[in-house]
Amino acid sequence: MRNAAIAHNVGVCTPNNAKIIKITELTHNTKLFEIQLEDEHSNNFFDYSPGQFVLITVFGVGEIPIGLTSTPIKRGSFELGIRKVGNVTNKIHQMNVGDIVGIRGPFGKGFPIEENKHKDLLYVCGGTGYFPIRSTFLYAIARREDYGKIMFLYGDRCPTDVLFPDENDDYKKREDILFHQSVDRDDDKCWEGNVGVVTTLFPNIAKEIDPVNTVVFVAGPAIMYRYVIIELEKLGIKNENIYLSLERKMKCGIGKCCHCGIGDKFACLDGPVFSLDQIRGLLEAL
Ligand SMILES: Cc1cc2nc3c(=O)[nH]c(=O)nc-3n(C[C@H](O)[C@H](O)[C@H](O)COP(=O)(O)OP(=O)(O)OC[C@H]3O[C@@H](n4cnc5c(N)ncnc54)[C@H](O)[C@@H]3O)c2cc1C
Repeated sequence: MRNAAIAHNVGVCTPNNAKIIKITELTHNTKLFEIQLEDEHSNNFFDYSPGQFVLITVFGVGEIPIGLTSTPIKRGSFELGIRKVGNVTNKIHQMNVGDIVGIRGPFGKGFPIEENKHKDLLYVCGGTGYFPIRSTFLYAIARREDYGKIMFLYGDRCPTDVLFPDENDDYKKREDILFHQSVDRDDDKCWEGNVGVVTTLFPNIAKEIDPVNTVVFVAGPAIMYRYVIIELEKLGIKNENIYLSLERKMKCGIGKCCHCGIGDKFACLDGPVFSLDQIRGLLEAL
């Protein structure tokens, strides 16, 4: 796990060559890429906190920010989950195992998972917000004895968009994790679970919440935050214990280009993870 003593940033300004070593198709428009830095030393010491992101370059096409979805406990490679939405992501989806990309980072501030040992953890995510949340969730379940209750609420648009279905089924079977899942709509009537937006899952965990001892990690589309925050406040969870990952359009990753400004903060430098009390007044601008 990244800390001052071992932090190793592979390149702030210049991308480092990295090889795609595995590609897993997650859904019709989303793939999981396992990546290894070509330079062995950099690869061995590549370290990050859950919730941080890298800038990935497709040479000759462009560079985009992508959150790290693997756990930093697993060394030697890292994973990026990428949804195909436009120019660069389309090109990444056409790449194969063995192809080379550029990596800068890791950048930003992640979720404070180490700082919240012995607390109950509540994860809330929607859509590709699952990716950064998965990194901190995998970290917590690998250190299960360090945390209290672990609760997970995940919503996606429809059954064919659901990420990591096999992993989710494993979590649902575990007695030491409360994992609840939903889809917004089920047009083909093929979904056996809850149908409704992610906030409809809150009644499943309401009785489990100790408002003083619970820390919440949230990631998803901006519109989701407004409604999730209402639910969290109903449960009595304080703003300083609610952490949200904000995806803003960004370019440089180091607070120079000002593309990702939110009020007086930069998502790349001060975030992408912020506590709710840090950004309360800025939520309307999202
Ligand atoms: C910190 C951070 C972490 C991210 N993590 C992930 C991740 O784990 N997985 C993932 O699939 N995506 C993630 N994204 C979003 C990803 O960066 C964008 O989807 C990507 O930049 C789109 O690039 P493109 O060239 O393919 O699309 P473009 O051709 O540039 O744009 C296509 C569409 O995507 C929108 N878009 C462009 N950039 C962004 C952006 N930064 N955020 C949201 N929408 C954007 C555009 O408005 C447009 O509608 C993250 C973004 C940030 C800022």
